[in-house]
Amino acid sequence: MNREQCCKKIYTGSWSQTSRSCSRAGTVERDGKFYCKQHDPVRIKEKQEKDRLEREQVWEERRRIKKLEKAAPELLEALKAAERELEDWMSVAKGDDEEKTRMTLVTIKKAIKKAEGE
Ligand SMILES: [Zn+2]
Repeated sequence: MNREQCCKKIYTGSWSQTSRSCSRAGTVERDGKFYCKQHDPVRIKEKQEKDRLEREQVWEERRRIKKLEKAAPELLEALKAAERELEDWMSVAKGDDEEKTRMTLVTIKKAIKKAEGE
């Protein structure tokens, strides 16, 4: 085998010749062996690690959404209770307090509408 050739064996699946060497030039040396870009063990490991992290992120996001979904009915009830409290408070709130309460109520009402798909 040419020293400059990629050392990776490729399985052919044929009976007569079960494997052959990768025909590409070895562009990187690892532990005295040459590998082409595709078969570079370091690059392969990095790619696997990157894929693993991406899968992990997808799962983390799914877990987060699932938790939120589970809590949604309670959150909505809590928000509606807060809405009622603030509406009562609005009748006695004055000046800055009234304005702040009004702004909070707008946000709460928007969120409730969104949650109920109206
Ligand atoms: Zn190769």
